[in-house]
Amino acid sequence: MIAYLEQHFLHDDTNNDSLEPQQQQQPILQSMNLTGTIDTTVATTTSAATDFGNLHVTTPLAVIKPSNTHDIVSVIRFASQSQTLTVAPRGNGHSINGQSTAHKGLILDMKNNNELVKLVKKNGCYAVDVNGGMLWEDILRKCVGKYGLSPRSWTDYLGLTVGGTLSNAGVSGQTFRYGPQTSNVTELEVVTGTGDVVVCDHGRNSDLFFAVLGGLGQFGVITRAVRVLVQPAPDMVRWIRVIYSEFSEFTRDAESLITRKEGESFDYVEGFVFVNSDDPVNGWPSVVLDPDQVYDPTRSGNRVLYCLEVALHYSKGNCSSTVDTRVEKLLGRMRFMDDAIFQMDLSYVDFLLRVKEAEKQAKANGIWDDAPHPWLNLFVSKSAIEDFDRVVFKKILKDGIGGPMLVYPILRSKWDERTSVVLPEGDIFYIVALLRFTNPSYQKSPSVRDLVLQNHEIVQICNRNGLDFKLYLPHYNTQEGWKQHFGDRWSSFVEMKSRYDPLAILAPGQKIFTRQQ
Ligand code: FAD
Repeated sequence: MIAYLEQHFLHDDTNNDSLEPQQQQQPILQSMNLTGTIDTTVATTTSAATDFGNLHVTTPLAVIKPSNTHDIVSVIRFASQSQTLTVAPRGNGHSINGQSTAHKGLILDMKNNNELVKLVKKNGCYAVDVNGGMLWEDILRKCVGKYGLSPRSWTDYLGLTVGGTLSNAGVSGQTFRYGPQTSNVTELEVVTGTGDVVVCDHGRNSDLFFAVLGGLGQFGVITRAVRVLVQPAPDMVRWIRVIYSEFSEFTRDAESLITRKEGESFDYVEGFVFVNSDDPVNGWPSVVLDPDQVYDPTRSGNRVLYCLEVALHYSKGNCSSTVDTRVEKLLGRMRFMDDAIFQMDLSYVDFLLRVKEAEKQAKANGIWDDAPHPWLNLFVSKSAIEDFDRVVFKKILKDGIGGPMLVYPILRSKWDERTSVVLPEGDIFYIVALLRFTNPSYQKSPSVRDLVLQNHEIVQICNRNGLDFKLYLPHYNTQEGWKQHFGDRWSSFVEMKSRYDPLAILAPGQKIFTRQQ
């Protein structure tokens, strides 16, 4: 039966996409006997053919909504009996370059909003067991609402699944203290590419545990029982932005904040670059936290400025003068421009959900759902960040990118080197995130092609100047590119692949391995 499927639907490139697949493929796929659903309608396969990047279209054969781990096993075993079928676990499809798609393959739609969050206590530490398909925003609400507890390490935007961020790293302004999200899980249940269900942690099947973290979906599907470390959730947050005209002062203060002991620093440290103009997207209006706040752009003659964004947690019981005193003490040692400071108080949950508001506005402006997002994310070593600023921020991107240009330091010591994530050298490196938003209906917008080319140019300039960096959320079209990315970690990555997904069934959208027969 699978041979029939391949002959009729997988090998015919001429008119497959115009067939009405729902009538013809469904009976064969039904032989998997799933409790969940299989959807081969054009509407569903078309929507799973793209992702947040909206840069590529890769149409799958079917989208499968598993209802349990057994369904995932059945799908992988079904695919492994064929010569060519692949299986892509898809979280919320918020990748940029088709990483969660599968050309004529099977999509496992992992997103799951209805799951419970279960509190566990082990070795004196609290953690929650969550489903790999849950969105972080649901985990936040459930953890804080039910237990008054919260995961320690986040992403900026929480409409992402646990499995999706753990397959990369998961970084934000708390990473300097707690490490990425991959450093904050203690146990996983995984279905490997051989269809085996494996529970793994630091001690049990630890090779699989570390390979899956940052493993780009290559070794197994993260299913249930993701154990995430939690701690008491604070009530409130003082959210602060200060402005610098000099990059060296910005980095000096940012690095000082992330290397201080807990209690002697802020609880969140990020930063971004902006244009010294009144442009609503690229200029200072993007810096103020409240529309009533105003910044005078004549204060600095520099074209490009820097904003350090910090936050301090506190409890409702703290009176505001106590919070003011703590904030003043921390800010007192910093060298931002006089009076270039914006601040506001908000609840911890609202702070963590702050990008949701930007999402709503972007949706209303038509630049979120269907618009292209040619984003570029890099980890740049501290040794290279001044050069990066000089060549990229101050020259190539001096007029902005139509969205945030994040740059902030992270401590390498908070990352577990046994995971699959690869990092640049040095104790400190910076995340650089070029989060480009384009408006296809705005005629003056540069073309998406030009923006993608500009991303390539930036990467090439880094290479030519010998800057030490690694792509985050990496994307390469050739195995040579991947080999260089992984460097001396490549051979162990390949070995783990041959151990846990020897036929290269999983996550084909990453374009690392070719499906074996
Ligand atoms: P998908 O895009 O669906 O999948 C990503 C990869 O993971 C694919 O290869 C897929 O096959 C695999 N995968 C998905 N689920 C599973 C699973 N259960 N088991 C195994 N493999 C799986 N990243 C940060 O670190 N910090 C941020 O602040 C941040 N902010 C973002 C904001 C926005 C608006 C967007 C679009 C992205 C952001 N990202 C950020 C990047 C994001 O973390 C990654 O793109 C992540 O992979 C998206 O999660 P997802 O659930 O949509 O995954």
